[in-house]
Amino acid sequence: MRYSKYFIPTLKESPADAEVISHKLMIRAGMIRKVAAGIYTYLPLGLKFIRKIENIVREEMNNAGAIELLMPSIIPAELWQKTERWYHYGKELLRIKDRHDRYFCYGPTHEEVITDLVSKEIKSYKQLPVNFYQIQTKFRDEIRPRFGLMRGREFIMKDAYSFDRDEEGAEISYKKMYDAYCKIFERCQLEYRVVEADTGAIGGSFSHEFMVLANTGEDVIVTCSNCGYSANIEKAEVLQKEYPENYSDEPEKPIEKVYTPNVKSIEDVSKYLNVPKTKIIKTIILTDGENVVATLVRGDFDINIVKVKNVMNWDIIYFATEETVKEVTNAPSGFAGPIGLKCKIIADYSIKGMKNFVVGANEKDYHLKNVNFKDFSEIEFYDLRNAVEGDKCPKCSNGVYKIYRGIEVGHIFKLGTKYSEKLNATYLDKDGKEKLIIMGCYGIGIGRTAAATIEQNHDKDGMILPEPISPFKVYLLPVNYNDENIKKIADEIYEKLKNKNIEVLLDDRDERAGKKFKDADLLGFPYRINVGKKVKDGKVELINRKTKEVKEIEIAKIEDYLWKN
Ligand code: ATP
Ligand code: MG
Repeated sequence: MRYSKYFIPTLKESPADAEVISHKLMIRAGMIRKVAAGIYTYLPLGLKFIRKIENIVREEMNNAGAIELLMPSIIPAELWQKTERWYHYGKELLRIKDRHDRYFCYGPTHEEVITDLVSKEIKSYKQLPVNFYQIQTKFRDEIRPRFGLMRGREFIMKDAYSFDRDEEGAEISYKKMYDAYCKIFERCQLEYRVVEADTGAIGGSFSHEFMVLANTGEDVIVTCSNCGYSANIEKAEVLQKEYPENYSDEPEKPIEKVYTPNVKSIEDVSKYLNVPKTKIIKTIILTDGENVVATLVRGDFDINIVKVKNVMNWDIIYFATEETVKEVTNAPSGFAGPIGLKCKIIADYSIKGMKNFVVGANEKDYHLKNVNFKDFSEIEFYDLRNAVEGDKCPKCSNGVYKIYRGIEVGHIFKLGTKYSEKLNATYLDKDGKEKLIIMGCYGIGIGRTAAATIEQNHDKDGMILPEPISPFKVYLLPVNYNDENIKKIADEIYEKLKNKNIEVLLDDRDERAGKKFKDADLLGFPYRINVGKKVKDGKVELINRKTKEVKEIEIAKIEDYLWKN
């Protein structure tokens, strides 16, 4: 491809709303442009990058025996009403009406459509197992679309759905997808971990997430230093039930109400009252929209709302709104405490045995000191906190957790019969009995994988794209395309590479060499060839984008470097 005939509008500056490096670089490299919050146009180079990832995903899905199809983006409400997700999915589901006032949604995921299809088309055990997949645009009206393609509202996903006769078969299908995902992320040359995950709104019995490691990742994961067991922090079990440091001989003191004007966070309370965080109990009010629960955790730990959701057996969980907090505590948020609360209270084990601790007074600008368990109603204890570095591994006896940050690029679920029951997806088995089909579902965010690749592979000058997914392999850079000799050699190399099917971008622009060097680094293709003065000696420079190693090579021997090895 000739730069002058292509369209790569690079920018010197990143846009003001771009927070993370992948977002900044994809805009600067002319890969994407924003249309609205979380909605982007893929410019030619961005599309080429996305297609490379899609192709690897498609090949590995096909290799694993999955069959490609394409479902509609627009889904009639009735299907989503049958599974009741129409009522539970919340505002992320973009609902629309047609001219006849009939409701539809823009699909955020496609369990309903595919299960409905299977329920109509698949009748016999002879047609099972089967796994259908698609690569398609999804829409989720995320509360906070941000980070470019990382968390968009409209985004491309590969979603696959497996259908099996029995549990055993479903586990084989799951394992096939697990292995295919590992191959995909290995082929993309990404450093990743597979972690046990919570099953979230989709539900089901177990699930794994594929996390690309990056310091900027939104997800926190734990990995055991000994056995390698990994889990999403949402799921990571904390075994500890006793905290010996909480226990002491100190006598229980009478409660003291203290004025704490505008002092709300644990940090501030600890400083203002000069008590360690381990002597403060955090009270956090959570809701599923209908019910409310107050959760207690020691001040130096964080509450894990997914664990709370599971203990409460809720489908969904939110931090309570200011209004709800006022209803149950009689105070604005920041002053909640367990005494006199008008809702159920549950506690993390980390507060067991504490004495003379600080809690919110359920009154604006006040906290209570020297509170003890006898001062409020009995509570149940559970594992409700986030794991921290050093917590014991639940799978092996010697290991402790280490914490990493990651970006969730893939997610696989074993669904069981959750959808087949609701949509009546059954088959006639060998024994003539009608049975429910056992399902699994498997997603990869294509755009998010592109963004995660850049988060993991960049330097101060730009992207460093792994060869298998880089839009071009070579950036061919004549330092002065107006120089006849340089132009002739550059054109020759260009033709030669093209003939060898090596994807090459020839920077034939009438630009200063400095500008071209900057753009080449920004775009981050694996190799750059500088065609400059040395052509008179039959030589060019070959630069490795990742290592920055510069090799002077003979033009005649370019192939030794670019396709022979
Ligand atoms: P998250 O927790 O990040 O919101 P999720 O659990 O909602 O993700 P899934 O429903 O499992 O995501 O979707 C499958 C895959 O689709 C995810 O692993 C991710 O790669 C991708 N994905 C999900 N939401 C988005 C989004 N808003 N923008 C881009 N990709 C997304
Ligand atoms: Mg989500």
